[in-house]
Amino acid sequence: MGDTRPLTLRDVFAAQKRIAAMVRRTPVIAARALEDRVGAPVFLKDETAQPTGSFKLRGAANKLLSLSDEARARGVVAVSTGNHGRAVAHVGAELGIPVTVCVSTKVPENKLEAIRALGARLVVHGESQDEAEREGKRMVEEEGLTYVPPFDDPAIVAGQGTIGLELLESLPELDTVVVPLSGGGLIAGIALVLKRVDPAIRVVGVSMSGGAVMHASLNAGRPVEMPEVDTLADSLQGGIGLENEVTFAMVRDLVDDVVLVDEPAIARAMRFAFEEHRLVLEGGGAVGIAALHEGSIRARESDRPLVVIASGGNADLKHFLDVVATAPRAVP
Ligand SMILES: *Cc1c(COP(=O)(O)O)cnc(C)c1O
Repeated sequence: MGDTRPLTLRDVFAAQKRIAAMVRRTPVIAARALEDRVGAPVFLKDETAQPTGSFKLRGAANKLLSLSDEARARGVVAVSTGNHGRAVAHVGAELGIPVTVCVSTKVPENKLEAIRALGARLVVHGESQDEAEREGKRMVEEEGLTYVPPFDDPAIVAGQGTIGLELLESLPELDTVVVPLSGGGLIAGIALVLKRVDPAIRVVGVSMSGGAVMHASLNAGRPVEMPEVDTLADSLQGGIGLENEVTFAMVRDLVDDVVLVDEPAIARAMRFAFEEHRLVLEGGGAVGIAALHEGSIRARESDRPLVVIASGGNADLKHFLDVVATAPRAVP
């Protein structure tokens, strides 16, 4: 894409059609145990059911399927070992598009292994994520690869927005949607759809209390940088880019509120999702439930549903078992 035309609902419908064969229409699960706490029916939108275990597949599929034949033949590059890298590698393998993933020397061997297993070419370069990103950008210049950003790209945002279309179809009465928030591609896409259909629908973002860069940027009125803090929600770590082009303005203009949750609340939410729904959530996928447990988001009307996006389930198994076994039970 690379154009500056604002995204519209039409782009999201086009994305839905484009990615239909590759992406699951995910289930919505009634979360009865959260109803009393919230004061309305609560549903979880289960994006862990995607073939790559997170919603990132939607944006990656839309981006790669939007490329010209020449660009597909040259290949793409992503800088991520997490859910984004995994999604891009998966889509590339499905479509026969060569995928390069750039990582820094700091990335542990098990994560490198997982990327190789998906058939992507791995380039280990530099001491930090920033240096790996510079190497990725160099490959764009010198090898003609297409850079696939994790959130700040119209095609990525439109892909994530297909969740908004599915929500309106499953729960046309919905009042509030609660969305895990990092770079803002997920919430921007969903908010674009819901606010266009009914500006009164409430869209709330949730980030972890340490290193919530979008939250700090909204307060500052411009994109800011912050040091990374260790968190259970590692898939929400990272900046929004000082040169942010798409998501900062969309989040500023379309999102009603952003709330923060602490680490014990994230751990309790992971335990709750497993005990109550047999759902394995990574920390970043559980922050929405954590915000409901903490009582930071209450229903506005008792008969209209509130939906929480359960955004991903790619937790390291040993770490997950540890957290779930030691987290205190949530008191609803
Ligand atoms: C990437 C990610 C998010 C945040 O998405 P953004 O578009 O960066 O806001 C939330 N949850 C999970 C599991 C993710 O992988």
